[in-house]
Amino acid sequence: MKPYRSCVTNLHACKANCCKNGVWVDVEQAKMIEEYVNSRPEFSDLHGKTLFAEYDEDSDYFPSGKCVGTALATPDGPCVFLGADYKCRIYPVRPHFCADYPFMHPLAESQLPVMIDNMFEEDPNCIYHELLSATLKSIEEEKAAERAKSAQ
Ligand code: SF4
Repeated sequence: MKPYRSCVTNLHACKANCCKNGVWVDVEQAKMIEEYVNSRPEFSDLHGKTLFAEYDEDSDYFPSGKCVGTALATPDGPCVFLGADYKCRIYPVRPHFCADYPFMHPLAESQLPVMIDNMFEEDPNCIYHELLSATLKSIEEEKAAERAKSAQ
């Protein structure tokens, strides 16, 4: 079995492609992130800027039922919190969505299943490309074994 590699070891290749479009954040967590950024001099370039641009409602993924999207640094992205070195500048307080990625966790009371985001299934530069392929392969193998067993 291959050892698990952290994304951070792969930034030279993927260039944080998954941070390209920003993410959804619960409005309560967004307030906390805003306070974090606005109280620190190392983020002075972000002070006074729009950090969260869009608004939506989603009670399956966000405890308050309301979420906002991280603003984009340019109209084409990336997320306003992405650094020039492709690392998240707010890593200690990054949105839950980012911390969980590539797993997309609905709330415990939600009826939705936990999913793996397959956005980068075809991207060989993403380490989750391997994880996703291995997961799908093992599901297929399991199904094939079950079919063979029931055919006996
Ligand atoms: S908050 Fe950080 S980890 Fe999340 S999309 Fe933005 S830069 Fe990436």
